[in-house]
This record gives sequence, structure tokens and C-alpha cells, in this order.
Amino acid sequence: MKTQERISVPILPRPKMWEAGSGVFRLKAGTSITCDKGLEIPARLLSRLMAEGAGIRCRITRAAPEQGLVLKQVRRLTGIPANVDGYAIQITPRKVILKSATARGIQYACQSLFDLLQQNNEGLCLPCGCLRDWPDFAYRGFMLDVARHFLPLERLKWTLDILARNKYTHLHIHFTDAESFTLPSRRYPKLNQSPKGPHGVYSRADLRKLCDYAAEREIEIIPEIDLPGHATQIIEKYPELACKVDTEGRKPWTLCVGSEATYEFMDRLLEEITPIFPGPLFHMGTDELDFKDLSDRIFWSWKSCPVCRDRMKAESLGNRQELFYYFIRRVHGMLAKHGKRMMMWNDNIDIANPHPVPHDTLVQFWRVAGKGRGPRRGCSMNKFTKDGFEVVNSYYPDTYLDLYVSDDRLINWHPQRAPQIKPEFRQKIIGGECCAWSDGGVDPYQRVLPSSLALFADRLWNRQPVTEPDAFAHSLTKHIFGPRVSPALSPLFHILGGMALHGNKLYELKSPLLKTMPRSKRLEACRQILLEITTERQRDHTLNPQALNEYAGALRALKLKLQPGKRKS
Ligand SMILES: [Zn+2]
Repeated sequence: MKTQERISVPILPRPKMWEAGSGVFRLKAGTSITCDKGLEIPARLLSRLMAEGAGIRCRITRAAPEQGLVLKQVRRLTGIPANVDGYAIQITPRKVILKSATARGIQYACQSLFDLLQQNNEGLCLPCGCLRDWPDFAYRGFMLDVARHFLPLERLKWTLDILARNKYTHLHIHFTDAESFTLPSRRYPKLNQSPKGPHGVYSRADLRKLCDYAAEREIEIIPEIDLPGHATQIIEKYPELACKVDTEGRKPWTLCVGSEATYEFMDRLLEEITPIFPGPLFHMGTDELDFKDLSDRIFWSWKSCPVCRDRMKAESLGNRQELFYYFIRRVHGMLAKHGKRMMMWNDNIDIANPHPVPHDTLVQFWRVAGKGRGPRRGCSMNKFTKDGFEVVNSYYPDTYLDLYVSDDRLINWHPQRAPQIKPEFRQKIIGGECCAWSDGGVDPYQRVLPSSLALFADRLWNRQPVTEPDAFAHSLTKHIFGPRVSPALSPLFHILGGMALHGNKLYELKSPLLKTMPRSKRLEACRQILLEITTERQRDHTLNPQALNEYAGALRALKLKLQPGKRKS
């Protein structure tokens, strides 16, 4: 089997190998989906995708038919690396066989099959051919910040559907921050009382539903309680957890990690929260203790607190850094007691010096510590991997959807590419995660996620950079809206000027990557596509109808900008 041109088949993330055959498999109402025992969940997922996205009702059966869609679990697939959830699809005019060694691989095959659906005059069909595909990185994550902007359960489910379409493995939820504590607590009910502004609290029942919904899509939810910094809201409700200092009008930011009351709080809280989430990972935050640049507002109090000083003396800890490690080790022990592996942001581990952070901790690398923020000397990806940690790469210019991400930045990125890493340490980087922060309560993501997460997913699935961004952008529309969307919508991202338009950007006047069209032609295209979107909304047969509304808003703003008489800027 030869490797084909990588985007010649409209599947996202781009598959590794596709060999086109001749003819098509036609889908019609009542087409059967036959599945092996244990593959009922992917069978239902495929059936639902076909119904909602393509309008075709399939029949799930256990009998071996002569034709139809067949989901098969196999011991191993030739030509595909072992243990990576790879899959194969074989399409002939009579039969479509989806194979993998794992249920997760079968789900990926179902998602790819859905991308392959084509609408022609005679209805929906699949082109004949053979596909083999597998991911290059095992950990493919996305982080949502619900502490700064609370999102209802339905929005989280919508996000999980997008993640599943793009073959992600983890949804990391930043549940707590200085602004709110959105996890339910019976032991510390004040954490959930009268939150200010739009913040809400999830019920235990909602969180269980969320975890079930994620598990059906082969996605693990990683909850994050961000401590000992970002603790302003907790301290407001439980002042006994604060350091015994005069903050002189500045915002208390960190828990008192000298006080035994803090450890009792952590232990009881984790005992209560950890059983809600079935996955093995638990994120403890641990980022941003030090804001030398904002020290007039945010106060890190351990140095002047007598309780912290007493603890340092009693435990023979030389400085605040060692006191931080003391906190980490105790919390690590609490999580281990509940069967959880600790995950943490990297910036407060002084990796250039000996440290006692347990090496089974999963480090989320987001920054090379900068001026005034965290231990600086030698804080590099190389040092973390050389030291023996497994790392998830969330390097902040490349992977932050709120401010920095852009097509040209992302198109060549992959988790082992930036920040720089020596070849011998690359294997310790198990994948990457992009982050949607909501500082200031902003929620721009309903428009941003469908396209950005697809592009980011490709960077986690394939080490190979995207060499045909224009073809990629054209495939995106059908990937997001399903096979029945009008082909007239395919230049959508060319008109908007980008695929990974971040939170503050509705459009790009000059695309950093995609072919741009002359201003007058673009204005006309913008008008046309707005009319098409109106028609699509009336036909009501696409996936993600709410995203159509979001894009319509962005296109209307662009149209105003492009109108004659408006200055370029
Ligand atoms: Zn203290």
C-alpha cells in the first residue's frame, strides 16, 4: 500500500494512508451496522452520527450480513504500530469494514468514515478504498476554564462532541480559580455560596453525567483544583486557610501551606471530589505563585507568615521553594491514597536544581519561567524530560486559544517541536494540550472551537506539518457541518481569513497562511456565503447549527469592514 497525498482524502485529522479504489458504497435508510461484542458503544455513536449529520437511519445488528457497515475488533492490524489505537477501513461497493484492536480505535474509524461521506445526485455514498491510520501522540488534550466563565452542562457536552469528532483523548477542566469554585462541596458549602457574577456550580449528578458522556466518547475528564495559588476565593470564604499576615490591601493569593488546617482542608476536599471522576489523572494546578511584576496587587505571603516560618523550621525547609515542595509532596500522597496520578503546571518546579517532586507526576509544560515569574535558571523542556518526567506540552504562545494561536504558528507545531527539545528526550513528551482560558469572564469559544480544535487535533495526530493549508481549510467546512452542508460554504475559512482565529479575532483582514482574495472579490464572496448560511439554517440539516450563527456574525462584521469607503487597518 502506498502513502497517498495526505489531504487527498477529506478526513481530519489527516490520516496516514489512503489508497483509492473504484466505485462507491451507497448508503440508504436501513443500512445495517454489525458490531462485535464490546463495540456496541461505537456502533451507537456511528448510528447517531449518520442520523443527525447525514439523515440516514441505520440498523444495529449482531448477525453477520453480506453487506453493510461492519465493526470488527481484531487482535492486531498489520502495518500499524501496536498499542496506539490505530484502525483500518476497507470500503467496497457491498461492504464497509472498520477494524481496530481497541474500542477507541473503532470510534476513530467511525469518525473518519463520517468525514468520507459524500453527497451526490443519487444520495450519500462512500468512495471505495483502503485506509490505515494511527496517532503519533498518545495524549491529545484540550483545557476549558469554567472558573472564569461558567459553562452549563450542555455546552460541556457540545465541547465533548467536538473533541470526539477530532479524536481527542482528554478534556481538562479548570474548575477553580481566584474568581470561583465550581465543584460541589458538602463539607465546605461556603465555597459554593452566592458566587459573584455569572459563576455557577456543577451538581454531583451533572458531573457524573458529564463523565459518562465523556467515557462513551473515549475521553477522560481531568479535573483541576488550582492550588496553593489562585486561592483568593477560597480564602474569602474560609479565612482560617490564609497566612497570618497583614496583606496591606493586596489580594491574598496563596493558601497558608504552613498550617495543618490547610492539609486537613485539602484531604477532606480531595476525599470528597476525587470519587466523582473515574479517570486516573487529577490536576492540582500549582502555577503562578510569584508575580514580582504585579506584587502591588497579588501577595505571596509565605515568607512573612509566622505559621509558614514555623513549618519551615520544624521540617528543616530552607526557603519558600522547599516549603512549596513540602505542600506538593503531601498533596501527592493524598491523591495517591485515592488512586490518582498528580498532574501539575511546570512553572514552580525549579528544575535546574535538586527537587523532591515525585517523578510519577505528569508535568504540563506551559512556560519557560519569565522575568518575575517562578524559578528561572534552566527552566526548559529539556531539563524536565532529562530529569525523568513525562510531559504534556502546552507551550503558551503556540497552544493558547485565548490570545496567541494563529494558523501560521500552529501549522508546523507539534508537541515535540516547540519549545526546543533534544532528540534523546522526545519520547518523554507524550502529547499536547491546547488551552481556552476565560480571563475576564470572556467566552468567545463557541465560534473558535470547531475550527481551532480540528487544526490543533491534526498537530497532535501527525508529526508531519500541514503542507496544503488551503485544502485543509476546504475540508474543514464539511468536517464541522457534516456531508449535507452546501459546497458553497467550503471557502468559509478563506473568507474569514483563518482557521484558528483566536478569542479576540472575528476575522483576519490578511490571512497569515491561506490564499487571500482581492478585497472586492472577498466582499462579494462574503455576501454570497451569508446568503448560503441563511439557506442552510432554514434547511436545518447540518451538525453544529449554532456555529453557523457564530460565523454569520463574524462575516457580517467583516462585510462592514470590507465595504467601500472603509479604511484598511
Ligand atoms: Zn502561612
